[in-house]
Amino acid sequence: MATMSRAFNTVDLQDPVKAAEYVKRKALEFGADAVGIGNIERWADAPIQMDPKQIMPECKSIVGMVFRVERGSLRGIEEGTYFSNYSAMGYGGLTYLYIPMTVINLTKAIEDEGYEAIPMGHQSDWRAIDNEGFARPNYSRPVRPGQAMPDIMIHLRIAAYLCGLGEIGFSKMFLSPQFGPRNRIGIIMTDLELAPDPIYNGPQLCNRCMACVKACPGQCLPTDKTIKTNLAGHEVEWSDIDTKRCGIIFRGGVPTDTVQEDPYMTDVPTSVPGDYSPFRHKPRTVYNTGQAVCGARGCTRACMISLESRGVLQNSFKQKFRRRPTWSVDWSKEAEYAPGTVFRKPPKVEID
Ligand code: SF4
Ligand code: SF4
Repeated sequence: MATMSRAFNTVDLQDPVKAAEYVKRKALEFGADAVGIGNIERWADAPIQMDPKQIMPECKSIVGMVFRVERGSLRGIEEGTYFSNYSAMGYGGLTYLYIPMTVINLTKAIEDEGYEAIPMGHQSDWRAIDNEGFARPNYSRPVRPGQAMPDIMIHLRIAAYLCGLGEIGFSKMFLSPQFGPRNRIGIIMTDLELAPDPIYNGPQLCNRCMACVKACPGQCLPTDKTIKTNLAGHEVEWSDIDTKRCGIIFRGGVPTDTVQEDPYMTDVPTSVPGDYSPFRHKPRTVYNTGQAVCGARGCTRACMISLESRGVLQNSFKQKFRRRPTWSVDWSKEAEYAPGTVFRKPPKVEID
């Protein structure tokens, strides 16, 4: 029996409108929940370290894809009994498993027809800029004069906006009309010309309700300090999130003024567990980035509840998300364990 392979150059993608439809159908087939396209001209004002043309100078189109975080993946944190599912399935698993598989399959479908395509999920671990967009000193250097420092980081939330997939909320979370803040983004860049989708102009998603601000356990989202930018001719504004503080709070820790003998996080010697973490020490990170002990209490859960209550999300549910009063942990008291909780008895020490 002869070997078998995929077929090449069998689909005519020369018409940008037909090509866009083909690519979008493939994206959904491969596992994206929503897909949109932006032409590269929309990135004309991108800062050099975030400019897709620095990676692919011949790039003509960017395909943005929304991947939902299942609402059920947040259930365990909402109930206070099962935290790792969101970090694993909703966060790290999407980032490092599911999105790469989908974007790789989509790039294969495009490259089968003779156009180059770059698959990109959330992988920006080697990026040359920090969370605030500043270049990291003594990190890397341009390989040719005038080029960006490796690695470039494409701003995925902005990419999703420029692909017409939704809004950027006050929380700086990307809000899709399907899932609100409950999603992550994957993109591909390609030299295939695809007809772009309009910038999102559907029902208003972020109505500045400030539920995200009120429910963030670390008060990381200021209302008096915002970032304003222009994206493809549209004014966009979001809270200037305190990323450093969020980086501690979202892992379940609270920074104090004193160095702790037994800190919550080994890399933050002043940290103690917050009242929104049931863990004495920060649990092990899953899939490299999954350590969201706060369960995005403000920027995702509170926002989602607000959007669902307004009836603006397409993925609606039969039962409301919050069904019981919110919980908090009092670390100043002894723990009370439920009947049926069995600890291993300390071994008997025999003394001769
Ligand atoms: S991840 Fe948690 S700490 Fe960070 S902004 Fe969202 S709710 Fe606040
Ligand atoms: S909680 Fe309200 S203000 Fe915050 S992002 Fe969501 S809709 Fe916007």
